[in-house]
Amino acid sequence: MGALAAIALSSCNPQEEMHTETDHSDFQWQVDRFADIKVLRYQIPSWDDLTPQQRIYAYHLTQAGLAGRDIMWDCNYRHNLEIRRALEAIISSESVDKTSAEYADFEVYAKRVFFANGIHHHYSNMKFAADFDQDWFLQTLSGLGIELSEEAQRAIFDPSFDAKKVNRADGVDLLLASAVNFYAPDITQAEAEAFYAAKEDADPARPVSHGLNSRLSRDENGEIYEEVFSARGRYASSIKEIMGHLAKAQTVAENEDQAKALGLLIEYYESGDLTKWDDYNIAWVSTTGGDVDYINGFVEVYNDPMGYRGSYETVVQVKDFDASARMAVVADNVQWFEDNSPIMDEHKKESVVGVSYKIVTVAGEAGDASPSTPIGVNLPNANWIRVEHGSKSVSLGNIEDAYHASAGKGMAEEFGFSTMHNERAEKYGELGSKMHTALHEVVGHASGKINPGVGTPKETLKNYSSTLEEARADLVALYFILDDKMQEIGLMENKEPGYAEYDNYISNGMMLQLRRILPGDDIEEDHMRNRQLVASWAFERGQEENVIERKVIDGKTYFVVNDYDKLRGYFGELLREIQRIKSEGDFEAGRNLVETYGVKVDAELHAEVLRRSDPLNLAPYSGFVNPEMEPVMEGDSIIDVKVTYPMDFLGQMLRYGSTYSFE
Ligand SMILES: [Zn+2]
Repeated sequence: MGALAAIALSSCNPQEEMHTETDHSDFQWQVDRFADIKVLRYQIPSWDDLTPQQRIYAYHLTQAGLAGRDIMWDCNYRHNLEIRRALEAIISSESVDKTSAEYADFEVYAKRVFFANGIHHHYSNMKFAADFDQDWFLQTLSGLGIELSEEAQRAIFDPSFDAKKVNRADGVDLLLASAVNFYAPDITQAEAEAFYAAKEDADPARPVSHGLNSRLSRDENGEIYEEVFSARGRYASSIKEIMGHLAKAQTVAENEDQAKALGLLIEYYESGDLTKWDDYNIAWVSTTGGDVDYINGFVEVYNDPMGYRGSYETVVQVKDFDASARMAVVADNVQWFEDNSPIMDEHKKESVVGVSYKIVTVAGEAGDASPSTPIGVNLPNANWIRVEHGSKSVSLGNIEDAYHASAGKGMAEEFGFSTMHNERAEKYGELGSKMHTALHEVVGHASGKINPGVGTPKETLKNYSSTLEEARADLVALYFILDDKMQEIGLMENKEPGYAEYDNYISNGMMLQLRRILPGDDIEEDHMRNRQLVASWAFERGQEENVIERKVIDGKTYFVVNDYDKLRGYFGELLREIQRIKSEGDFEAGRNLVETYGVKVDAELHAEVLRRSDPLNLAPYSGFVNPEMEPVMEGDSIIDVKVTYPMDFLGQMLRYGSTYSFE
């Protein structure tokens, strides 16, 4: 990992656009469709290949994940849990008329909230419009004997109140402008910066992840302090439940290393001590034996506008052996990629340590990873641990497969420039996309180093660090996917998957992804900013030589790549510059790139995208219900675990609410 770059690393959001259908089995993938969301199911094909003990192990890890569900809701926004309970009460009540128009409107709102783990959109961070009858809602609640606090009512119905969960707009006070509950509402960015500037590390070369597992609060004297998430602190009741399930998992672990890592994780939850979190991560990343693995903790920091605090998440995974063998080839060659990267020699790592890459099968997800899920994860985030002990990089294979299998061909046909492009996308698009993910995760985030004496990207590049880190990893992937090396090491038979990926990336970055945002809005989300930055910078760079051509035919705009080799060269140039920005901590240059290319939207093009994609009735965002796991009992002991694939999104949300609510 390029030095502290690590923060940003990690879960990369799905690129669903323009993938084509590859699986026509009878399995029904889609279970719900509302607003801008479709809810899918995923399968666990390797479940039957596990032993009963491995299945029980996966079961306890999954239960541990779900036990922390409330933490995510509360961290997202301080009134989320109160609001969720009101929604749950109405939906589960038998006395409420479910056939009325008022209820129908209300239910769409409720589903959106469940999907986002709160009242702000999971991707845009904007609060959901309360497009349902307020009087009906309040009367129904009072009929059920429920009184919602004044402020929670305001949170639902007043559009200007706590309007945005995470606001990274240039020039705003990042904390005052963000509604996320990682900070008390009146704490300013300057106060938080001062608080963390004063933190010292016992070993500056091995800094703990300050702020990762706490809320910054203010005491009665106005002093700022951290409310730590632990069995003795904030969220103690949820955390004790998590610990209980982890302890059960420990008794059925596949090997000593797993059991030891779980022991450290339990100790960390007990005390909240961040050095324990590092100890745990070292043990976890060193545990490579076994077929079942997991992520559990306060991990990704995207939900904190200042990038300190981790969101609670769990992913339980089962190894996919065939696919992993193929992908291990990328990891085996990671040093070659570093040595042959277009970045400056002084920014290259002499030796890239312990990068492992696996395609895994998800068995269960919770917290920030559910219902909306990443498709790849690269952990741990602490850079020094990555450098000294390595990292684990996984691609969530069955999630990607579900996306592909459920995606229609409509988008590809509407936005693909020619039959040739469409056929190539259909034949090679999926492989191109998988190669991009592999290169992005294994090589991209692992590449490059920071100059001595330069701070972490979070410190130097601030609110632009995540966008720039994702851009850097994408550019590594785009640069190498067209390298002869990919054929030499047997990952691709020809360059077609690379061309298909270039077509997809440019078309998505220049226009398709715009269907995810509302007219008039800027692009806010890091991955979207990164994709537009890369695509529109390359478009402008090659304008003179017509490397990417903007064609308008019958009123429809297309961005067509005319020269793949030249485009590859531009990706290399931009990679070199972004690596320089990261290595030197050049905030001004980083801000300039993101603000110039990644934020502003071409309103006309945006309108066209919405107009063309609207008739296709595709949901811009997807997420998943989880498989339901049912223990097979013999007396008091679990002897096996059965899996079923539910068809009812709201039903699963209600069941989670009644079974796993501890706050
Ligand atoms: Zn990434």
